[in-house]
Amino acid sequence: MLEKLIPAKADPILGLGKLFAADARENKIDLGVGVYKDADGKTPIMTAVKKAEVRLHAEQTSKSYKALAGDEVFRDEMRKLVLGDAVAADRVATLQAPGGTGALHQLFEAMKLLNPDATIWVSNPSWPSHVAMAKHLGFKTENYDYFDPATSGVDFNGLMVSLQGMQAGDMLVLHGCCHNPTGANLTANQWQSITDLVLEKNVMPLVDIAYQGFGDGLQEDAIYMRTMASRMPEMMVAASCSKNFGLYRDRVGCAMVIAKDADSATVTQGNLATLNRMNYSFAPDHGAALVAIILSDSELRAEWEAELEEMRLAMLTVREDLAEALRQQCNSDHFDFIKDHRGMFSRLGLSPEQVEMLRVDHGMYVVGDSRINVPGLSGGRVAPFAKAVSMVANI
Ligand code: PMP
Repeated sequence: MLEKLIPAKADPILGLGKLFAADARENKIDLGVGVYKDADGKTPIMTAVKKAEVRLHAEQTSKSYKALAGDEVFRDEMRKLVLGDAVAADRVATLQAPGGTGALHQLFEAMKLLNPDATIWVSNPSWPSHVAMAKHLGFKTENYDYFDPATSGVDFNGLMVSLQGMQAGDMLVLHGCCHNPTGANLTANQWQSITDLVLEKNVMPLVDIAYQGFGDGLQEDAIYMRTMASRMPEMMVAASCSKNFGLYRDRVGCAMVIAKDADSATVTQGNLATLNRMNYSFAPDHGAALVAIILSDSELRAEWEAELEEMRLAMLTVREDLAEALRQQCNSDHFDFIKDHRGMFSRLGLSPEQVEMLRVDHGMYVVGDSRINVPGLSGGRVAPFAKAVSMVANI
C-alpha cells in the first residue's frame, strides 16, 4: 500500500538550515528558523524555566494521568495571561495542547463540529501551517489581502475588501501580535473595524497568539485581541508557550474557546476534552507544569517577565540598528519599516533572486520570501548583514 505515497515536500526553512550547516564560511549568518537567539547565537533555557524544572523534579511524586483537558492551574493561568479580565472566566473553555500548533489543530477540529463547510480565511501571507492544517482537516480556505509590498505595512483597504467575501459560519484567522512572516501588525482601530465586520457577518474569529511579549510588551501585545474578545459572543484563541517561555521542544500550548454564557462554556469544555481523547488523549505534561509553576509563583513570574522583556528589548535594538545601518549603507530610508515592524520577523521585500545572492555570495541565510529572523542578527551581525543587503538590493 505504501507505494501510494508520494514523497513529502521538504520544509523550505528546515532545508535552509541544512544548507547553512553545510556552509564552511566562518562569517555565515542564519536568519531562517524562528527561534530566539542571544548574542552568542544560542537559544537559551530561561532561568525561571530552569528553576521551575528543579522544583518540579523535587516535588513531583507521580507521573500518573491528569485531567483530559490538561492541568487546571496551567489552563487558568494561561487564560489570565492571554485574555486578562476581558471575558468572565466562566465563559471560557480551555484545553492544554502540544504547542500552539496543537492548540490550532484542536480549534480547527472544534470548528469541524460547528460547521464542516466553513471557509477558513487566512492572511496573505501567513504562517504556512494555517492553510496546510485547515486543508488537511478538509476545510476550504481563502486568503485575504494583508501585506502591502510598497509600504511593507498592512494593506488594510485590501484586507477589508477581501473580507467582504466572508459568509456567515466561516472562520477568520488573525495573528494576535507579531505577524509571521511579515512583522507588520494591525492598529487598535483596524482591530475594531475587523471586529465590527466579524460581528456583522457572523463569523468565528480564531486568534493565533504565538509571540505574546515579543512585540510591544506582555500586556500590550494582547490588548487589541482582548478588546475584540470583550465584544464577541464567541471566539477562539490559540496560544503558544514555545517562544515566550522558550519551551519549543516541550510542546506547550493552550486552546481557548469563548462561549456566549457559562452553560455553553461547560458544554464546550466537555467537547474540547473529548477532542483531546480523539486525537492524542492527554497532552504532554512537563512543559505545561513548568508554565503553571512560573505563572503562579510571584518570584519566578517576575524573573520570567524580566527575562522576556530583556529578549524583547534586544530584538527592538536589532531593529533600530539594522534600520540605521541600512540607511547608511543604502543612503535611503527605504528600510525604515524594519523599526516599525514588531516580533521575531520582518519581510525585507527582496526578490527570490536577491535572497539567493545573499546566500550564495554572502553566506546570509534568509527565507525565500525575504523573511528574516530578527534575533539572529544580535551579537554584532547587523553591520555585515546590512552591507550584504545593500549590495544585492537595488535601492
Ligand atoms: N502560530 C504562528 C504564527 C507561529 O509562527 C508558530 C510557530 N512557528 C505557531 C503558531 C506554533 O508554534 P508551536 O507549535 O511551536 O508552539
